[in-house]
Amino acid sequence: MFGLMMDRPLLLSSLLEHAEQQYSDVEIVSRETHGDLFRYTYRDLARRARQLANALAALGMASGSRVATLAWNNHRHLEAYFAVSGSGAVLHTCNPRLHAEQLAYILNHAEDDIVLFDSTFLPLVEAVAPMCPGIRAFVLMTDEAHMPAQSKLQGLLCYETLLATQGDAFTWPEFDERTASSLCFTSGTTGNPKGVLYSHRSTMLHSFALTMPDTLSLSVRDCVLPVVPMFHVNAWGIPYAAPMNGCKLVLPGPRLDGASLFELMEAEGVTCSAGVPTIWLGLAQFMESQGLKPSTMRRSVVGGSAMPQSLIRDFAEKFDVEVRHCWGMTETSPLGTQGVPLAKHAALDAEQQYALRSKQGRAVFGVQLKVVDIDGNALPRDGKSAGELMVRGPWIVSEYFKGEKPALRDGWFPTGDIATIDADGTMQITDRVKDVIKSGGEWISSIDLENAAIAHPALAMAAVIGVKHPKWDERPVLCAVKKPGHEIDEAALLEFLGGKVAKWWLPDQVIFVDSLPMGATGKIQKMDLRQKYADILCGDAVTSNVSTSP
Ligand code: AMP
Repeated sequence: MFGLMMDRPLLLSSLLEHAEQQYSDVEIVSRETHGDLFRYTYRDLARRARQLANALAALGMASGSRVATLAWNNHRHLEAYFAVSGSGAVLHTCNPRLHAEQLAYILNHAEDDIVLFDSTFLPLVEAVAPMCPGIRAFVLMTDEAHMPAQSKLQGLLCYETLLATQGDAFTWPEFDERTASSLCFTSGTTGNPKGVLYSHRSTMLHSFALTMPDTLSLSVRDCVLPVVPMFHVNAWGIPYAAPMNGCKLVLPGPRLDGASLFELMEAEGVTCSAGVPTIWLGLAQFMESQGLKPSTMRRSVVGGSAMPQSLIRDFAEKFDVEVRHCWGMTETSPLGTQGVPLAKHAALDAEQQYALRSKQGRAVFGVQLKVVDIDGNALPRDGKSAGELMVRGPWIVSEYFKGEKPALRDGWFPTGDIATIDADGTMQITDRVKDVIKSGGEWISSIDLENAAIAHPALAMAAVIGVKHPKWDERPVLCAVKKPGHEIDEAALLEFLGGKVAKWWLPDQVIFVDSLPMGATGKIQKMDLRQKYADILCGDAVTSNVSTSP
């Protein structure tokens, strides 16, 4: 017997309609790409999203079309989130830190029709456009006053001019809640980037989870600042959860340094925020150097990489900010776990509590976790038995875009992370099976770097490993074996790699070795290299090939 309740679809457009009706004058503050602060309300957002939906429809966007964005966290990007998905099309948020060729690959693979982009990325889009003949329209997300005098892009359109030609009457269509809403590629595995295709249903359920008291705990009294990019897993779902709960939303645009973030938080009364550890390190260093403390910020959700215990302590003791350590992936929408201690942990001393908070936390309701051995057998929840972390739930990927299977095992998604789970369900990441490096929250493919390096005629072998770095969490180090009779030094090798990979991918150090440790099956034993060189980037004089957030 079925229940007799209304079968209303969970659609993202309902968030916008709700915010327009319930929180019409709640503010959204956005740092424009050229620097000014822009402010408006949920009422304005809803009106302009409808205008944009009309404008994109006039450009040929239809149900299922893919519309790409290359944009910072700002109000126009937010409008695109709702205009595209709300119309039944798919918002493909692209990571502008990708190398032009990788970007061209994902734009072509997604079969994007229209690209909306911020002026910062004009040179990148101009470089990519000739490789993407399928794109029909390029829209610069700015007004006429900031349009370039000339561009290599034929028929470049101006976002504000497009909107000005459209009325704001538009009825959001109703469709199946399983319809695709957005697409985000991840390079956190080997091979080409893979697309994770979220649905309206998965995103809505994820928004409810994000809102719960031990995750972001969002309320109408909150002012939330997502530092995590809107091009990375939908800014962890905050652009949806904020209108759901009527929070004031503060979008930081391109300014992600500690000083700018602090200034914005203070000026706008931000109460909670979300981002990767590198961002919080920058903010902590700035506040400490200036003797400052946030006056309204009370909690911050941190994930994407492990949050160091010392930083969790600093935020609590020096700045009165509670750090909530979360784990997740592009494939998990991303919320998987949250690390708020249980009631029984109140008796622990401060240091024990920080240690607990530095683990990756317990599964949020809706997500199931287990760790398995190499044969797929579930391991005990004893906090000691480490195995591959498996996950399942209604906002976890089932297969990648265009049918690339993520090889679910018995209906569980293998994360590529190695973890333990204890009797309370607290999960701790201990290692990673996937051969990638995470720098400042962004992936670097060790395999792509190795392939680029080995193309040098003087090299016989190359292995790239991720090495602990005090600022970026991990940075790449290249271990290279020269061919007999050939000479090459670090500078020449880095210069050779320079044109082939993004600058922030360049290894922080090249170590020339006589041979690389090989396993029985002929594979390079990277674990040995990682152990041997674990601390080489942790000295005082460490510099990096990245100077700003990568
Ligand atoms: P992404 O798909 O880019 O969001 O990356 C997901 C991966 O980042 C996970 O599989 C982990 O390897 C890593 N990750 C995410 N959150 C954490 C965390 N809190 N601690 C350690 N690693 C994390």
